[in-house]
Amino acid sequence: APEKANIVYQKPVDFTKIDINLLPTVMIVGRPNVGKSALFNRLIRRREALVYNTPDDHVTRDIREGIAKLGDLRFRVLDSAGLETEASSESILSRTAVMTANVLARTQFAIFLIDVRTGLHPLDQEVGKWLRKQAPGINPIVAMNKSESLHSNTNTFAEAAIEAQILGFGEPIAISAETGLGMTALYEALRPRLEDYIVKVLDGNCSQDENFNQNSDSCKVDESKLPLQLAIVGRPNVGKSTLLNTLLQEDRVLVGPEAGLTRDSVRAQFQYQGRTVYLVDTAGWLQRVDRQKGPASLSIMQSRKNLMRAHVVALVIDAEEIAKAKRSMTHAEVVIARQAVEEGRGLVIIVNKMDLLKGKRNSTLYKKVKEAVPQEIQMVIPQVTGIPVVFISAIEGRGRAAVMSQVIDTYEKWCLRLSTARLNRWLRKVMSRHSWKDQGAQTKIKYFTQVKARPPTFVAFMSGKTQLSDTYIRFLTKSLKEDFDLGGIPIRIMQRYVP
Ligand code: GDP
Ligand code: GDP
Repeated sequence: APEKANIVYQKPVDFTKIDINLLPTVMIVGRPNVGKSALFNRLIRRREALVYNTPDDHVTRDIREGIAKLGDLRFRVLDSAGLETEASSESILSRTAVMTANVLARTQFAIFLIDVRTGLHPLDQEVGKWLRKQAPGINPIVAMNKSESLHSNTNTFAEAAIEAQILGFGEPIAISAETGLGMTALYEALRPRLEDYIVKVLDGNCSQDENFNQNSDSCKVDESKLPLQLAIVGRPNVGKSTLLNTLLQEDRVLVGPEAGLTRDSVRAQFQYQGRTVYLVDTAGWLQRVDRQKGPASLSIMQSRKNLMRAHVVALVIDAEEIAKAKRSMTHAEVVIARQAVEEGRGLVIIVNKMDLLKGKRNSTLYKKVKEAVPQEIQMVIPQVTGIPVVFISAIEGRGRAAVMSQVIDTYEKWCLRLSTARLNRWLRKVMSRHSWKDQGAQTKIKYFTQVKARPPTFVAFMSGKTQLSDTYIRFLTKSLKEDFDLGGIPIRIMQRYVP
């Protein structure tokens, strides 16, 4: 077994070189109007934000996620502003159910905003209580926003700062989301926490999918039993709605309007073999489907938003179009599939409308499509081997079991965790098949460990600074896929130098 004590991490961590899937998540919390959205916008600047759920007519009720850039720090940032209703303590408490399940579980850190001008508000205390109850592992950074409005009146800030300590989260920092004041202080507060986290995750001691508790060494849950978030994506008219109806069947449960959310955020969910499956952003998606006589690009954008939230992406393509066009995927579909893989999602391809290729005249076509599609998909998405392809006819209402067995299989693989002992036995075996040649320096893989699941991410600990070649990384990836049956799952391998 590897000697963990021997590992010496090199600080400072270079966040710009960290795989975005490994970046920690920071949620901005606070009562309405303290400036959460303003801070979120400042942190992500002009980069793209992903919006979950649909806006209603009056207030945005979305949770936005983006990649934040603060100096050389990079992290995922969540703006919880969308989850609030009117400024009543009841609404803050009632939205907790939604928050807990969907968002807080994926958050390791929090910035707790209060408005320096109004001082501590009873609702701030509610938020504090809520946070402590829902995520005891999170020790938020308290930031007093709108501090630019105090000018040089330091007394006021000192008073407010003392008041803020009633929250019990330590000394606050002064910031202004609008002017950028205090961003250095925010950086300095965040940096050690995020760096600790990265080192711990890379050490394999903590799953990225849980609240990061600085005092705990390990945190393990059987993630494959958690509810599955499924996104059904594809061009207009390929049969997504039809498939959706098939999947929902008599199990149709339209949840909502959930506490704190509007009727627009009604969410489709169903049970399959004792497991809860959420259809990601179905409400918003269905609405758009009605209006979606427009260009295909609309559905690509919609898909992109859905991808980050989904565990498994089911890309629906049209069998008749394939037969006509003589190629499996249009450009738009390849783009969606690649995005799913890049985002680290499990991918399942669903070829719908197979009924149109049945019958005598078409039977050769039917066979051809069945053979050609998996091969062609392999060619256009070579990064991921063995992507499952399911052939169905949604209109006949029968694809449910075929689709769901592949979706669940993909999900379970996506959640897989391999022990370091098992991986190193495996490593010795593959190295004996095809060893990594030293490049002058005495570089070799000391050991290999899985640092996270969802998607499976591995680190090769190297004895020297020479990096493994891309070819060798590909060989390792391929071997992992074959030996642990990980077809269709994007696998990541990173390298670290252990002096
Ligand atoms: P949220 O409800 O917490 O997301 O708050 P918003 O980001 O929507 O901001 C609420 C109001 O506070 C808006 O009118 C913002 O322009 C204002 N605001 C946000 N940050 C600052 C700041 O740093 N200084 C001042 N003076 N106003 C701010
Ligand atoms: P969406 O735009 O992707 O949601 O597609 P729809 O579910 O609205 O389906 C588009 C059209 O294709 C409708 O006319 C459906 O009846 C039809 N359709 C969907 N699935 C099938 C199928 O399995 N076979 C056939 N022949 N037609 C289908």
